[in-house]
Amino acid sequence: MSGRRVVVVGGGPAGLMAAGQAAEWGAEVLLLEKMDRPGRKLRISGKGRCNLTNVAPPDDFIAHFGPNGRFLRQAFARFFSTDLIAFFEERGVPTVTERGGRVFPASGRSQDVVDALTRWARSRGVTLRTRSPVGRLLVEAERITGVRCRDGRSYRADSVVVATGGGSYPGTGSTGDGYRLAEAVGHTIIPIRPALVPLETKGDTARRLQGLSLRNVSVRLLVDGKGQAVQFGEMLFTHFGLSGPVILTMSRQAVDALRAGREVAVSIDLKPALDEQKLDARLRRDLEAHGKQQFRILLKGLLPRKLIPVCASLTSISPTKVAHQITAQERRRLRTWLKDFRLSVTGHRPLAEAIVTAGGVSTREIDPRTMASRLVLGLAFAGEVLDIDGDTGGYNLQAAFSTGWLAGRWAAGAP
Ligand SMILES: Cc1cc2nc3c(=O)[nH]c(=O)nc-3n(C[C@H](O)[C@H](O)[C@H](O)COP(=O)(O)OP(=O)(O)OC[C@H]3O[C@@H](n4cnc5c(N)ncnc54)[C@H](O)[C@@H]3O)c2cc1C
Repeated sequence: MSGRRVVVVGGGPAGLMAAGQAAEWGAEVLLLEKMDRPGRKLRISGKGRCNLTNVAPPDDFIAHFGPNGRFLRQAFARFFSTDLIAFFEERGVPTVTERGGRVFPASGRSQDVVDALTRWARSRGVTLRTRSPVGRLLVEAERITGVRCRDGRSYRADSVVVATGGGSYPGTGSTGDGYRLAEAVGHTIIPIRPALVPLETKGDTARRLQGLSLRNVSVRLLVDGKGQAVQFGEMLFTHFGLSGPVILTMSRQAVDALRAGREVAVSIDLKPALDEQKLDARLRRDLEAHGKQQFRILLKGLLPRKLIPVCASLTSISPTKVAHQITAQERRRLRTWLKDFRLSVTGHRPLAEAIVTAGGVSTREIDPRTMASRLVLGLAFAGEVLDIDGDTGGYNLQAAFSTGWLAGRWAAGAP
């Protein structure tokens, strides 16, 4: 038994994992959660199915976090996707692996993940106190001594793990408190921005296509007219602009470019399997074979129904024009549009609507082997409160679990 007193702030995946681990290693653990129950964001994750990790090998996995992914290497070396899958399997939550290596609970219920974690933490002796928002970290002579809740109650601790999450979906309890707690004890906060966030586009094109989901398209992000990123997969039109996996993945770069005042656009290749030449041959064939058909009817073989009027207006080809009257110039316009359907990006949705928060506690001030603060003795951070954010695909939850696992063990004084 370590006999240490550990306080964990925040009952999300990082905090629950940290608390359970610290208790496993003999610490007396108090988990303080602001909301009426833990794991509210975890519950809505993966559209209620919880994409809890990904089976990508370590290097690929880390690449999904951008340049700061390196920070996670040691955490993943200790506790990675196979460990997480085994962890849940042992606790009655078998998993399935789906397209793109995404891992979900076999039941398809994120609540099973929340319940298994909470049960496990409690069974190890963790005291979970809900409706207990922490307002201050108590530090004396550069050493943590405890925390104070907003109701004025204080709790003494030998070590504290801050796992308060990011600043998005504030209704789940993640309102960015951890940034303020960390800053107040001297930590640097890398500016907070929304990541994995839908983009807003100019004009009414997206609104006209609202609800349309495109699969197997290739999407390029253009900044000042130059290609910055390419993604292949699925995207969605909404009443304000664009969303879906491909757009969310590129949004980090789009947000930074928009904030720097640069011109941002998205170019959709609707026919990525055909190069310009092959597409031209296909269009010629279609136009010849169905010479008497109206353009809008002909497009049915090429595009989803909702896109047809938009295609006609953006290519300025009358939808009722018959195929054999379509000029070579019009055919070229159609071909260009099919390969480069462009929407100008005017902004992004607010942080509240982002899947994750970019920025946070600077990883330079954190020991990657333990998640311990380099500035305050006895203090550690875990999960999204840190300046790490990954793509969609289960990467963010794995990062929360791995950093929580490390921080909990360290807090208990375990090797
Ligand atoms: C809609 C949506 C879907 C998502 N889907 C996925 C997915 O399928 N796969 C994936 O990998 N990632 C997904 N994510 C991201 C993932 O959910 C987060 O990255 C992850 O939950 C972060 O874990 P965390 O423990 O660091 O923080 P959180 O889950 O945000 O938990 C933080 C906890 O701390 C509590 N708290 C905050 N302040 C205080 C305070 N002052 N005192 C006490 N408690 C406090 C909060 O109430 C909360 O319970 C999704 C996110 C959203 C919004």
